[in-house]
Parts: sequence; structure tokens; C-alpha cells
Amino acid sequence: MYEVTLVPGDGIGPEVTDSACKVIAATGVKIQWDRFDFVGYSAIEKFGHPLPDEILDSIRSNRLSLKGPVTTPVAEGFRSVNVTLRQKLDLYVNLRICKQLQGIRTPFSDVDLVIFRENTEGLYSGIESYDERLEIAESIARISRKGSQRVLRYAFEWVVANQRRLLTVVHKANVLKLSTGLFLREALSIADEFPNIMFNQFIVDNMAMQLVLRPQAFDCIVTTNLFGDILSDLCAGLVGGLGIVPGANIGDEVAVFEAVHGSAPDIAGSGKANPTALIRSASLLLHHIGEIKAAQKIEWAVCRLYEEGQCLTADVGGTASTDGVTNEIIQLIHQSPI
Ligand code: ATP
Repeated sequence: MYEVTLVPGDGIGPEVTDSACKVIAATGVKIQWDRFDFVGYSAIEKFGHPLPDEILDSIRSNRLSLKGPVTTPVAEGFRSVNVTLRQKLDLYVNLRICKQLQGIRTPFSDVDLVIFRENTEGLYSGIESYDERLEIAESIARISRKGSQRVLRYAFEWVVANQRRLLTVVHKANVLKLSTGLFLREALSIADEFPNIMFNQFIVDNMAMQLVLRPQAFDCIVTTNLFGDILSDLCAGLVGGLGIVPGANIGDEVAVFEAVHGSAPDIAGSGKANPTALIRSASLLLHHIGEIKAAQKIEWAVCRLYEEGQCLTADVGGTASTDGVTNEIIQLIHQSPI
């Protein structure tokens, strides 16, 4: 029996986390969930703070969490709970896997991209100020050598361990010479330690174009926080959208598994949310704790679901509900040959 902190979040979060928990149960892996329903807006109403310490304490103690999205107010209000949680738990790698599923129609084929986004610093460091008198706003992109080295090293080691073919570092060191220049220099230096890994570099604006023109030319991508945030949504779009792309936030002590998508308030409560991204994030969690067969069963069932193409949510061209897709994945898990 594993103990895992469950943070359903808000918007579509509770719907898709409920699906992911049911799917994990169907694999036979026993998890005791330490569940926290109040986070973000609801936690402010109840406790006066969007990220109660109890959640952080539980994650630190369990060293593992499955998390739904939490709404961040735009241009006002409290600081992003997602960003704060990553910083407080020092989850310095954000891993996002954008692999094409057979059966989803996109303009591309054979897209298989892994993105390593630095997750604790850069333009999301939270160092912002507004000078009322001058009417000037500032946001500081703080990039440290240590912070760069650890995510870069993680990416290189992951590429070796997973026998991938190429690692691309993405930067803007022609303009942001000091901050992303530091990230690039560290990447070049660590690349020397891995002579067997194919390695190249792209400036972020060119990378955005190249990814749309020829996504198959890339494999693994490592970059700073803001660029990683934007490029990973772009890569999600290449393989069929946010509804299917899983993610993980990883540190030395703790890992938090969550989908790439946000709280999708436009479809919350309508039963239209695609649970696939969080279900696949749950599969990454199972892989992380060594429940490899259970993880593979989930991936097998998801692949079958999309190959069959009969039970899909609206974001990927179907009419099925969140529950419909969840139940179908559970049926397929029971039929899995793994
Ligand atoms: P954040 O800033 O928190 O990442 P966001 O505002 O960028 O959030 P999302 O909440 O991820 O964006 O939603 C972007 C679009 O994708 C919305 O139209 C939403 O309905 C859709 N979307 C996101 N996740 C899903 C999902 N799981 N199933 C179906 N549609 C989704």
C-alpha cells in the first residue's frame, strides 16, 4: 500500500483526478490517498491562503503526489499555486511527454517529443514589482548556474537512460545574453561530458517555427521555464492537444504528477473534459514508484482506446463523456495482455 497526496484542484481537476484514481485502482495497485480538496480560490475562502501548509507537509512526507490543475487569476490576485508548489518543493524538472497516439488526426505523423522545462526559476521566479510613480512594471528572470546545471544534467541522464537519440537546448542567448546565455553555456559544458549523445541548440523563436515545420526532426528538448511552458503547449498541439499530454514535476526528494493542461473553466462541470492526460500522468507516477506493469497496462489501454477511436471526448473529435472514456479505459485494462 502506497501513500500518495491527492490534490484534485479546481475547474476540471476533480473530474479528471477522479478518473485517474479509478484507473489506478483498476490496475490492482493499492494507494491510500491523502486527499486535499481546498486549494486556490476555495482554500482562500476557507483558510485565507491559496496553498495551505498541510498540503506541502503531506507531499513532503509522502514524497509523491497526484495533482489536478489549480486556476490562477489573470493579471491580479494570488500567485500561481502551481508555480509556488513547484518552488517550495524544489521540483526543478518539469517533464512533459508529447507522443502521437494512433487514431488522433493531426497534420503530422510520428511526433515523439520529450520536454524538460526548468521549473523553479527564470521569468517565473516571482520577483515582480510595480513602480506607481513611474508606472513601470518589472519581472526579473533569475537564472542560476546551479539551477541550470541540475535540470540540464537530469535531461542528459534521462536521454541516456531512455536511449533517446537527440537533445536540443533552446535559448535566446543572442538577446538575453546573461540569463539564457548562462543556461546555454552550462548546456554546452555538460554536453562535453556526454560525447555519445547527439546534441544541438536552437534560438526559441526559430525553434517554434521548426517544431511546426518539421517536428520529427526533434526528440528531447531542454529549456528555461517560460520557453518550456510555451513550447510544451505548442508540442501538445502537434500531437492532438492538451487533453492527452502527461507531465511530472520532479525534484531530488519529491515528485508531483500532473497533466500539462490547466483548469479549463470553459468546460468544467460539463462532463466533457478529456481525462487521458491525467490518467497518463498517473501512469508516470506508477512507473516512478516501480509499478512498471501497472504503468504499462494503462499506456496499453490508452493506446488501444485511441486506435479503436470509438470512445473519444470532444477535444479529440468524439462525443464521449469523461466518465465514458474512463470506463472504457478500465475495461481495456482488464483485457490487457500485460
Ligand atoms: P493554465 O494557464 O493554467 O495552463 P490555460 O488557461 O492556459 O491554463 P487550459 O485551462 O489548459 O488553459 O485550457 C486551454 C484550452 O484547452 C481550453 O479551451 C480548454 O477547454 C482546453 N482543455 C484543456 N484541458 C482539457 C482537457 N483535459 N480536455 C478537454 N479540453 C481541455
